[in-house]
Amino acid sequence: PVRVRFAPSPTGGLHLGGVRTVLFNYLFAKQHGGTFIVRIEDTDQTRFVEGAEQYIFDCLQWCGLTPDESPVNGGPFAPYRQSERKAIYKQYALQLIEKGYAYYAFDTPEELEAKRKQFPNFQYNHQTRYQCSNSLTLAPEQVLEKLANNTPYVIRIKMPENETVTCNDLIRGKVEFNTGLSDDKVLLKADGMPTYHLAVVVDDYLMQITHAFRGEEWLPSAPIHILLWQYLFGLNNMPQWAHLPLILKPDGNGKLSKRDGERLGFPVFAMDWTDPATGNTTKGFKERGFLPEAFVNMLAMLGWNDGSGQEIFSIDALIEKFSIERIHKGGARFDYEKAKWFNHSWIQQLPVQHYAAEVKKYFSAAGITITHNDYLYRVMELVKERCHLLPDFVEQAGFFFQHPTNVDTNAIAAKWNEAKQQFFAELMRNLELMSIWNAESLENDFKEMAAAHQLKPGELMLPFRIMLVGGKFGPHVFDIAALIGKEATIQRIKHTLQ
Ligand code: GLU
Repeated sequence: PVRVRFAPSPTGGLHLGGVRTVLFNYLFAKQHGGTFIVRIEDTDQTRFVEGAEQYIFDCLQWCGLTPDESPVNGGPFAPYRQSERKAIYKQYALQLIEKGYAYYAFDTPEELEAKRKQFPNFQYNHQTRYQCSNSLTLAPEQVLEKLANNTPYVIRIKMPENETVTCNDLIRGKVEFNTGLSDDKVLLKADGMPTYHLAVVVDDYLMQITHAFRGEEWLPSAPIHILLWQYLFGLNNMPQWAHLPLILKPDGNGKLSKRDGERLGFPVFAMDWTDPATGNTTKGFKERGFLPEAFVNMLAMLGWNDGSGQEIFSIDALIEKFSIERIHKGGARFDYEKAKWFNHSWIQQLPVQHYAAEVKKYFSAAGITITHNDYLYRVMELVKERCHLLPDFVEQAGFFFQHPTNVDTNAIAAKWNEAKQQFFAELMRNLELMSIWNAESLENDFKEMAAAHQLKPGELMLPFRIMLVGGKFGPHVFDIAALIGKEATIQRIKHTLQ
């Protein structure tokens, strides 16, 4: 059975690339009737950020990508938080020492610091490990003595000097690495916590993970993980690796970062994230007014397509169509205009009732209280075509709920004359008498009256629009009048004529 995992470290906001990793894991699991696991990789306590874990689960909930097993809903392989599994990892590190694939290193942080001062690029590796204080250089009794005295130590992997490790990546094919290029990574830290490298391998093994989808930035770590799999488990049941293409800046020049969003004014996080250390908030797609359906759809297309040219996919369609073979090898350029295009499409496609509650929040933030949902739905139907982001509804439709505050009277005055003045005065009287109030009869009436006054309807419609709306925008003017009703229509004409 397929078992996949998303394994975030709770170090801050969730970047859109992180959500795409979740999505591809999720799609693959659901397509194969498998299990989608979320495992929190919180072993690096120096990078731990308060609230980040909760935030990750909030984002997943907003996107509708619910895990089957996680620290929140539990599961047969609990606990799913690595800090709660601390006791598990040490025995694996000790096994590696016993087999000669790892060793104790006793250097104090000060000693390492001094080494780095002396040799700026100093790192533990096959060349330098014999010049440091560790179990490969000390006599066995000295090592025992240090251990007996509780001398702090770390356990490091002994990277082979010159071996080739092959990763058969599901996306990239065969990728080869020379082990001599990597340093002797720490596996178990002085505080007894494993590092990411050890924990990820042990947990993927214990949790019976079959496929590991993760960002391309982890590809350089793959040889370390594969070696650990070989040393600990003889490569038995190693997951199949799939390193997802990077998400690139809009100009295609390098990896998209949080700073690009700040600089260019678009979100890169799924939801607003407030850094507890600085109090700074980074904008999210949700709060910008994206629908989760659109966000997820857009992410799926960053590095994947089904080959048919189709771009709009529901989550169910994605589950059906997703295929690893069609994931691109090259990076995927992020385009905010395209992201908004997806949102616009989903705004048209979903029933307005589906997202009206969210739209209501934006109205209420703008000081407009909505009391009648049916009226709101009709308004939304009328203006949705003009909306790319949910707050656009406020801009496009505020005048349906309150008289326009800024009427562009200059635009009316520019081509005003006595004949128009008389037309609108009579229009008010006629509207008062109308018994059927709908767009069609309003339009007929308006045009008949214009003919009687020997005026062109086109010249009258613009001032009429500005009276009702405040400016030169909005849907069909008779649709507007029909919806705001007789009283408001007359009032707005009167208000401008005075
Ligand atoms: N904890 C890693 C991260 O923060 C997980 C990488 C992996 O999936 O192996 O992204």
